[in-house]
Amino acid sequence: MYKTLKSITKSIVPKQLIRKYKASLREVVYLFYKGNNYACNLCQAKLKTFLTLSNNDLLCPRCGSLPRTRRLYQIIKSKELLQGSILHFSPPLSLHKKIKEHPNIQYISSDFENEFIADVKYDVTKIPVKKETFDLFIAYHILEHIEADATAMKELFRITKKEGFGLIQTPFKKGEIYENANIKTPAARLKHFGQQDHVRIYSVNGLKKRLQTAGFKVEELIFSEKAENPYGFKATETVLLVRKPLI
Ligand SMILES: [Zn+2]
Repeated sequence: MYKTLKSITKSIVPKQLIRKYKASLREVVYLFYKGNNYACNLCQAKLKTFLTLSNNDLLCPRCGSLPRTRRLYQIIKSKELLQGSILHFSPPLSLHKKIKEHPNIQYISSDFENEFIADVKYDVTKIPVKKETFDLFIAYHILEHIEADATAMKELFRITKKEGFGLIQTPFKKGEIYENANIKTPAARLKHFGQQDHVRIYSVNGLKKRLQTAGFKVEELIFSEKAENPYGFKATETVLLVRKPLI
């Protein structure tokens, strides 16, 4: 009975759509995934298994979190960055909710394309706040969408407090940054950069250099999981932790 219900649930609901489930429906779906093998550090679900997306990312059936979001929350917690004022670009719902719950944090979420639930709609190349406003900004999978990325990085530097932090991730390739301003159509961008609205593919070193040019100190956080991987993180992952120096 259990197996049948589970397979029906899986077959009638496309996995990619689970992120759009209403909270109540997610709770029902969660019942079929409950177990003791894995856990979600965002919604505290205890799971028999995660949902596997077509790109092999492990999705939490309860809160819809992706591996990179669960890792991001772990980094924020372990580095004690959950304090002061935080600006979060295009926040996943699961993390947005989690940070909002924390008392004493001034949390502003921004989304330019109306794809995410957010408080404001800031253009990352022209952020309408005073300099040195935020203790932390989170710009995950943002910069690869921005043509004027040097301008965006300067803006991020400007709005960060001295000794404040930023957490940045994009898709990465080996070698040099791949970009070509003449590639403009969605079809060509998909072919060259992997997504219709991406304008380049960074390399870790290439992005690091651009962030340093904007004034940041950059630390590379490199993660590599053992086989058991109870929180369903990506097997290997790189995140850039940037800091605005005091002087
Ligand atoms: Zn979850």
